[in-house]
Amino acid sequence: MNRHLQAARQTVAQLFPSQPSRSKTVSALILLSTSCLLWGAAELSSRPQQVGARETDQANVAAATLWSGASFPVENFQAYTSPFGYRSDPYGGNRRFHYGLDMAAPSGSYIRNWWSGRVVEVSDSSSCGTSVIVQSGEWRHIYCHMQGHVVNEGGRPTMVDTNGGIRIREGQDIASGARIGRVGMTGRTTGPHLHWGLQYQSSWVDPALVLQAMYDSQRISSRQ
Ligand SMILES: [Zn+2]
Repeated sequence: MNRHLQAARQTVAQLFPSQPSRSKTVSALILLSTSCLLWGAAELSSRPQQVGARETDQANVAAATLWSGASFPVENFQAYTSPFGYRSDPYGGNRRFHYGLDMAAPSGSYIRNWWSGRVVEVSDSSSCGTSVIVQSGEWRHIYCHMQGHVVNEGGRPTMVDTNGGIRIREGQDIASGARIGRVGMTGRTTGPHLHWGLQYQSSWVDPALVLQAMYDSQRISSRQ
């Protein structure tokens, strides 16, 4: 099995340890939906029928509940400009792995925290540019190329974006959907976008799989 899909499947159970009895079915559902997206419906066309209608309904309800705490990470989203995986590097053309998903949005658009957690790092000194890293259980989410800069406030590194009204301190707790910065061009970038990285137990996960699972759960919710 594709290792990123495997990781995405594991993540679901991990995020919601309070619902262990359903996690297996839900994981399977998310695995199916993401697989359909990435590898075409033909490969999986016979599988959904293997699940009874009643079981599917239960899994759908559970899936909708599972992802309801997640927030789409950027406002005024325009396009996915670079996927997770190998690509020709924009600087120099070498083939390199891209550990995140690039999401274009106009400069100044607000970035929103994907999942409630704790700010474990703010930085402005790497190719990631002005950045914030949030830890939510086993998940770590990384936001790069933002506006603003880092200052030291009482011994704590703090990301400050004055014009955006943003102040994010290392160690602070932050809610899902909270504005944590604005799209900029700091670090190594050729245009304004959010580079969004996701790690689960220190392994990189394709953020597109997570967004697909969130999208699917919203569609399920709207049908309830
Ligand atoms: Zn990127």
